[in-house]
Amino acid sequence: MAGAMVRWCASPAFLLHRHMEKNFNPRRLDVLAFAQAGGQISQETALHEFPRLARESLGGFLGDAAPAASVHWQAQASMRRSADGQAAPWLHCQAQTILLLQCQRCLQPVPITVSSDQWFRFVATEAQAEAEDEDAQEDVLSLESGPLDLLALIEDDLLMALPPVAKHADCTPPAPLVHQDAAFDAAQAQKRNPFAQLAHLATRPLQAGNGGDGGEQAD
Ligand SMILES: [Zn+2]
Repeated sequence: MAGAMVRWCASPAFLLHRHMEKNFNPRRLDVLAFAQAGGQISQETALHEFPRLARESLGGFLGDAAPAASVHWQAQASMRRSADGQAAPWLHCQAQTILLLQCQRCLQPVPITVSSDQWFRFVATEAQAEAEDEDAQEDVLSLESGPLDLLALIEDDLLMALPPVAKHADCTPPAPLVHQDAAFDAAQAQKRNPFAQLAHLATRPLQAGNGGDGGEQAD
């Protein structure tokens, strides 16, 4: 009799999980339920949904000339047994986007592929997460802070994956600068030419008693 009850209860619970899987809100994700359901989400989300990341891109300044920017991402969760025998929710997040960054060589926009691949393990409390995060290969987060903003988490990962310096593999020569200052160029050329400096010193009258350059070395 009890067995029958269990079977009767288990089936709707299973259906409920299958149903929830399709309705998980990535902005307010119940990580535990998502992991227990073996949840998986795969989406393409507009870049503007990731405002901190969007600010890094020049796309906004290019207006219509910029390609439609979006982030491809997927998240997969499951319950896994840790060394202590306790089952904990694990989350695997992968994301990829193409950002228009400024080339540090020619200052023109350069499309850079940014991708992230990160594992997260969830523990009950903030204190536990802090204690375990240091030694763990995966990022350890706590369930204590409530529903997870999955998109913000993915945004963090992508921000950390940004290259420190963006450059074209091979810059096309930039258009010539409009205002090339001839006098400035001549001064720069002279600075780089030691003979020009010597010539300058030779023609400069030495000021008496001032110990000019090289004056002390005279016989
Ligand atoms: Zn360049």
